Amino acid sequence: MLKYLLFDLDNTLYSCHWGLEDNVRRRMQEFSAAFLGLSVDEAWRQRMEQWQKYGTNLEWLKGEKGFTDVEAYLAAVHPKDEADSLPPDPELRAFLKSIPIPKAILTNSPREHADLILGKLGITDLFTHIFDIRQCGFKGKPQPDAFNNALNTLGLQVAEVLFIDDHPDYVKGFIDIGGRGLLLDENDAHGDFPHPRIRELKELTGYITETCS
Ligand SMILES: [Mg+2]
Repeated sequence: MLKYLLFDLDNTLYSCHWGLEDNVRRRMQEFSAAFLGLSVDEAWRQRMEQWQKYGTNLEWLKGEKGFTDVEAYLAAVHPKDEADSLPPDPELRAFLKSIPIPKAILTNSPREHADLILGKLGITDLFTHIFDIRQCGFKGKPQPDAFNNALNTLGLQVAEVLFIDDHPDYVKGFIDIGGRGLLLDENDAHGDFPHPRIRELKELTGYITETCS
């Protein structure tokens, strides 16, 4: 039985067309390049070579490059004005409120980023928990520990949770540990994804009605 909805944050609860995640990625690339003394292109090429081993850029820098100043990284990647362009979303709020299932957030971003975004959207109070990258011990999605940390805190079995994310690897990671995962594929970019997929969040209610009741 479905008892909880676990949502990704960025490009899931707001559209990728706002470009916020693109700016986060650019700042990650620039930070990594400066730390490594490489061009942005070369630093990112090295990062992509180990995409499967490290779910986040920060884990990669720590694990492979001797990086230690985590808080400096997070502050550089998530400046205080990063979400200034994001408007409130009363429609999203009404939609989420209409789903009578408890909801939580699982993000590879730090808590302050999640608080900022949820506050901007006007939906902070709709989530019982926010599981961020510090709480995961900096082992982010798609690592099983990231999911299990949330499940343990919520006191739930994996099969009792539906996880919604815009990243195919993260959805697959949750399915691989026995959960129900749903890919939000706003741009129809993952037609070959072998698991459930929706184009917009509003399809979530139909999916739940059809498959989870
Ligand atoms: Mg996302």
